[in-house]
Amino acid sequence: MDFEYSPKVRDLRERLISFMDQHIYPIEAEREAFLHDPANAWTPWPGGEAIKEKAKAEGLWNLFLPEDYAPYSPGLKNLEYAPLAEEMGRVLGASEFFNCNAPDTGNMEILAKYGTEEQRERWLHPLLDGDIKSAYVMTEPAVASSDATNIATKIEADGDDYVINGRKWWISSAMDPRCKVYILLGHTPDPDRPRHQQHSQIIIPADTPGINVIRPLDVIGTYHMPGGHCEIEFTNVRVPKENMLLGEGRGFEIAQGRLGPGRMHHAMRVIGMAQRALELMCKRADERVAFGRKLSDQGMVRADIARSFCEIEQARLLTLKTADAIDRRGGKASKDLIAAIKIVAPNMAQIVADRAMQVHGAIGFSRDFPLATIFTTARYLRMADGPDEAHMSQLAKLVVAQVAEGRR
Ligand SMILES: Cc1cc2nc3c(=O)[nH]c(=O)nc-3n(C[C@H](O)[C@H](O)[C@H](O)COP(=O)(O)OP(=O)(O)OC[C@H]3O[C@@H](n4cnc5c(N)ncnc54)[C@H](O)[C@@H]3O)c2cc1C
Repeated sequence: MDFEYSPKVRDLRERLISFMDQHIYPIEAEREAFLHDPANAWTPWPGGEAIKEKAKAEGLWNLFLPEDYAPYSPGLKNLEYAPLAEEMGRVLGASEFFNCNAPDTGNMEILAKYGTEEQRERWLHPLLDGDIKSAYVMTEPAVASSDATNIATKIEADGDDYVINGRKWWISSAMDPRCKVYILLGHTPDPDRPRHQQHSQIIIPADTPGINVIRPLDVIGTYHMPGGHCEIEFTNVRVPKENMLLGEGRGFEIAQGRLGPGRMHHAMRVIGMAQRALELMCKRADERVAFGRKLSDQGMVRADIARSFCEIEQARLLTLKTADAIDRRGGKASKDLIAAIKIVAPNMAQIVADRAMQVHGAIGFSRDFPLATIFTTARYLRMADGPDEAHMSQLAKLVVAQVAEGRR
């Protein structure tokens, strides 16, 4: 494993950091205030499009897409993208300015990998241009969705169409007025196929009749405007058969392809969040004096800083190792590492943010600092894309099998 930055990555990283210094850190507080003002409910921050255009013009665009998808992306390997995603992760929402934000990235990967020429033309290209947004529609209120074989929303063939009926929730991005397309996982039962071939993924334009966005759900008291996370009812939603991705029964095959890199992208950004929390913690501890000594001279605070440094470094190395493994062996053969980093990174960032908030005193809990946001983001990332327990269960199963087969 060689984690040295290549000249290409060094150049991109320097330009990305300089772009963030110039265009993103200066607007962070203003954007946050706008998005939390109820008067602006569900309206995108108006300065965003101009920053996106600048990022695109500077070639800092679609950096996540591993395939060489000229002219849309520089075709970086996962290992090359990792340090760039880490930089973007330092400011919540910054990845959107570079068209590298979830859930669009995962959806773009699906369309790039599994879409037909027509599907790519209609949906992938506007997504790669950053002109529209998308949602990934899987989780359901009525079933434990961490076991995706439970998903019950029906996708039924009817003449030249499929008809979709069911209720979903926690669908990120669906409130954003720019969200124009959904990729939905639903049930297409067939007694002749095995358990993992009973589901399919289908493209649904967001304005199709029969879609009812019932409500946005809050995440620990915050709505994550303008995209939100929504409960949505699908009643006799009809789309042409050409909207099926890859074919009936192949939904999990697609999900495997999507979630591997997606989970790693989250991990990469989470490392950036934690690193920022550590830096803020160090600065604060070095300025603040309590009981006659700087906080940074006090043993308990030093222990918090040292532990945080160690834990971030450990998680960063695991992220890079996972990225490298996916590049070399593919997502399927790297399932153990992907599960491991999905567990490790958000847990690490949650505890680092917690320590940083404590060192800041009361102000650490406010929006004057990004720490509370980092804390809640890390916390919910222990649930989004599957809870810790589901990943631990899968990881343990893999490790037991590897040991039994003498592969460890
Ligand atoms: C902020 C946020 C954004 C999200 N965005 C999206 C989105 O865009 N699209 C989408 O489809 N979904 C989205 N989700 C939903 C998320 O993926 C699901 O909530 C998650 O997969 C868990 O499903 P569930 O809520 O049905 O929990 P359940 O499946 O009911 O699980 C509940 C609990 O059971 C326990 N459990 C589960 N499996 C095991 C196991 N194997 N061993 C031991 N215990 C276990 C865990 O404690 C788990 O938390 C989002 C969630 C959040 C919080």
